Amino acid sequence: MLTHVVRRSFTSCLIRRSLSTISSQSSSPSPPPPIRICVVGSGPAGFYLTQNLLKLHQSLPVTIDILEKAPVPFGLVRYGVAPDHPEVKNVIHTFTKIAEHEHVRFIGNIHIGHTVRLQELQQFYHIIILAYGSSVERTLNIPGETSLENVFSAKDFVGWYNGVPENAQLRPKLDGTDCAVIIGMGNVALDCARILLSPIDDLAKTDITDQALDILRQSRIRHVILVGRRGPMQVSFTIKELRELTKLNGVQSMLKKEDFQQIDQNMIDKLERPRKRLTELMLKTVRTNQTKDHAERFWYLKFWRRPRRINGKTMVESVDFEYTEPVDRQQFANENLFVKENGTIETVPCGLVIKSIGYYGVQIDPWLPFDKERGIILNHQNRIDDRPGFYCTGWIGRGARGVIVETTTESHTVAKRIMDDIEQGRLQNLHDVKSGGDGLISLAKSRQVRCISYDDWKKLDAHETKLGLSKGKPREKILNIDKMLELTSNSNS
Ligand code: FAD
Ligand code: NAP
Repeated sequence: MLTHVVRRSFTSCLIRRSLSTISSQSSSPSPPPPIRICVVGSGPAGFYLTQNLLKLHQSLPVTIDILEKAPVPFGLVRYGVAPDHPEVKNVIHTFTKIAEHEHVRFIGNIHIGHTVRLQELQQFYHIIILAYGSSVERTLNIPGETSLENVFSAKDFVGWYNGVPENAQLRPKLDGTDCAVIIGMGNVALDCARILLSPIDDLAKTDITDQALDILRQSRIRHVILVGRRGPMQVSFTIKELRELTKLNGVQSMLKKEDFQQIDQNMIDKLERPRKRLTELMLKTVRTNQTKDHAERFWYLKFWRRPRRINGKTMVESVDFEYTEPVDRQQFANENLFVKENGTIETVPCGLVIKSIGYYGVQIDPWLPFDKERGIILNHQNRIDDRPGFYCTGWIGRGARGVIVETTTESHTVAKRIMDDIEQGRLQNLHDVKSGGDGLISLAKSRQVRCISYDDWKKLDAHETKLGLSKGKPREKILNIDKMLELTSNSNS
C-alpha cells in the first residue's frame, strides 16, 4: 500500500521535473535529468543506504556514487571486523552486487574534506549523504598513555592485525612479557583478547596479515586481563563474543566468584533478555572455571577499577588502577550505573597495554555542523542541521556503537526520509542538471588525485586473494597504499 502511495507521488514529482525541463530548455519533451546522489563512506552504512535508495529508481532517474577515501571499499568490514569472523565479512558479497548495479558507481581514493571540500560536492550532486564512520580512538588522558612503548589504542592494534596501511609499522613487542592488560570491556576488547590468546594455527587460516602472524608466533603472552571501570552488570560486550572466548582451545577463563556474589536470581529475572543471557553465561563460566586441564593461556575480568597511570621507564611495566564503587548500591544492576573512586590504588604488572575504550567521529569540514563532544554530525532524524540536501547515517550520525545489523535497519528509515523529502518538495535544487561522478573525478584529476573504480578494486582484490590462496588464507592484504594504487592500475595483476 505504502509503495503505491509513494510511487504515485513520485510520478507526479517526475512530471513536475519533466515539465520544468521542457519549459526551460526546448519544446520537445526530454527525459528529466537524473537526481545525482553521493554517499561519503563505503562501510556498511554507505552500502546499505545505497541499496535502499536504489528503490527510488523505480520511480525517478537517479545515480548514486559511493565516495571512499581509501583505495579499497568496505570500511570496518575490511579493517575492523576480526580476521576469525569470516562469516561477518560475507556482507561483502551483497556490497559487491550493490556496487555493480548499473546506477551505482564506487569512487575510491577520494578524501572528502581534504581532496574535495564538502560544499564543492554540491556542484555535482543534488543529495549528499555522509556515512564516513568514527575513525578516532577515545583517550584516557592519564600519565604514560602516549609516552611509553607497548601502549596502544585498540584502533591501532586492530588496524595492525587487519592490515590498515597506517598501522603496518606498529610492531607490538609480544615476546618480552607474559601479561597484557586491556582497558575496556566492549566487543573490541574481546576481539583483541582473542587475537592475543588464539592458537596461532587457527589464526594462520584467516586473513590476518602475515606481518601480524610473525609477531604473534613469537608471543609469550599467557595472561590477558580485561579491566572495567564499572561492574559485571555493565560490561558492554555481547554473549556471542564472550562465548567464543570461553571456548578457545587451550585457554582458561579465570572469572572470580566473589565478583558475581551480589547477583541473585531476583536481579537476573528483572533483566532484559540479552543482558540476562549474558549474565547467566558469565555465572556459568564462573562455576565451570578450572575445568581445562591443559590450559596454557588465561583471561581475566577485573571490575571496579579506573585507570590512573601507566608506569614504566621506556617500556610499559604496570598500570595503576583506582578502585571504584557504585554511587548508589541499589543501582548495582543498572546499565547506567554511576561510580565513584574510593582512593585505593592497585598496581597491575604487565608488558602490553591496549586501550579499548571506544571510538568517535571527526568533523571532516569546518562547514559541517558538528558535536565535537560526542563526535557526531549535528542532525535531526538524519537530516543535517541547517544544510538542506545533506544527510548522515551510520556511526557518524549516531555515535560509535552498534553492530552491522543496526546499520542495516537504520538505512531503511534514512532512505525513507530522503524519499519523503523529495516527494514533499523539501529539496529545492532537484531541477538543476548536475554532472555527478564525471565532474567529481575531473576535479580530483585536476588536483593530481587518481580515483579508483570498482573494477580497479577488483584487480587488487584478485591479487590479494591469489596471494592468500598460496598461503592457505582467504586473502593476504596489501599494506602499502602506493602498491595498492599500482595494482589497481595494472591490467595483468
Ligand atoms: P565504517 O565501517 O567505519 O565506514 C566508514 C567509511 O568511510 C570507511 O570506509 C572510511 O574509510 C570512509 N571515510 C572516512 N572518512 C572519509 C572521508 N573524509 N572521505 C571519504 N570516505 C571517508 N559489527 C558486527 O556486526 N560484527 C563484527 O564482528 C564487528 N566487529 C567490529 C570490530 C571492530 C574493531 C569495530 C571497531 C567495529 C566492529 N563492528 C562489528 C561494528 C561495525 O563495524 C560497525 O557497526 C559499522 O562498520 C559502522 O558502519 P559505518 O559505515 O558507519 O562506518
Ligand atoms: P564499547 O562497546 O562502547 O566499549 C567501550 C568500553 O570502554 C566500555 O567497557 C566502557 O566502559 C569503557 N570505557 C570507555 N571510556 C572509558 C574510560 N575513560 N576509562 C575506562 N574505561 C572506559 O566500544 P567498542 O568495544 O569499541 O565497540 C564499539 C561498537 O562496535 C560496539 O557497539 C560493539 O558491539 C561493536 N562491535 C561488535 C563486534 C561484534 O559484533 N563481534 C566486535 C567489535 C565491535 P563504560 O561502560 O563504563 O563506559
